[in-house]
Amino acid sequence: MASTHEERLQRARVSLEGLSVGDALGGFFEFNQAAVLDRAVKTRKLPDVQWHFTDDTNMALSIYENLRLYEQIEQQELAVSFATHYDRSRGYGPSIHRFVPRVLSGQPWREAASGAFDGAGSFGNGGAMRVSPVGAYFADDMDAVVKNAHASTEVTHSHPEGVAGAIAGAVAAALAWQLRSDTVDRNQFISRVLEHVPASDIYDRLQTASFLRDETTVQEAKAVLGNGSRVTAQDTVPFVLWCAGEKLTNYEEAIWLTASAGGDVDTTCAMVGGIVSMVTGLEGIPADWIAHREPLPAWALGD
Ligand SMILES: [Mg+2]
Repeated sequence: MASTHEERLQRARVSLEGLSVGDALGGFFEFNQAAVLDRAVKTRKLPDVQWHFTDDTNMALSIYENLRLYEQIEQQELAVSFATHYDRSRGYGPSIHRFVPRVLSGQPWREAASGAFDGAGSFGNGGAMRVSPVGAYFADDMDAVVKNAHASTEVTHSHPEGVAGAIAGAVAAALAWQLRSDTVDRNQFISRVLEHVPASDIYDRLQTASFLRDETTVQEAKAVLGNGSRVTAQDTVPFVLWCAGEKLTNYEEAIWLTASAGGDVDTTCAMVGGIVSMVTGLEGIPADWIAHREPLPAWALGD
């Protein structure tokens, strides 16, 4: 039976919590020196200040708002929300700076986004980083996951690799929810995601990830799959799914494992958090981690 809007929104909210806590903690380690990161991961010492979220969460808030209001992705409204809530201090990628004023001046999103990367569209990891609430919301309907993940990404990242990366991320969140009471290993998890990913470089790299042997370490996985340091979808999503599959039932361990590889840590931890929280539920996210993260704004949550 299909979930109600309220049930779907509740799932999207859990994923948003998982995403934003991962983003806000990961933000402290973004492109950190290996020694500093190593010490933080080994001691598990949490930053003793408020954790601010970054662009990953800020854009995921617009997605959550869009699903809350329209029960599916409405692209023009999503573009307007991205532009309205744009906040330079959150560390956005470069192409948003042209997009925002165009949308705010009333241009349709497709025109506002056109011209990015000589018309080829962006394959940055920006579509994938914010997509897990889409997978969570439609987790009872995989066709809707794929369709709405595509729609939510295309607004800013229209390159087929950017879209494929976001589809993989959304499917992973949906599948995590579907499999929440089953036991699947990492390679089974990635293989199940692959069933829904279009032919692409992302697909090939996910397949590589699914072939890595059980004993593979996170450093070995990083060497093969990347860690987001190129901020492309191809360099981010396969590694994220490897980490999520490795620690699918433990939010805290999943985040530390992901952070330990360095790279674009706010985004890799945001994605892993948004996926793994679908298995662990809100209870699986440490309460003191949620308390450290700055509060999520009322405009998005509607409460
Ligand atoms: Mg970020």
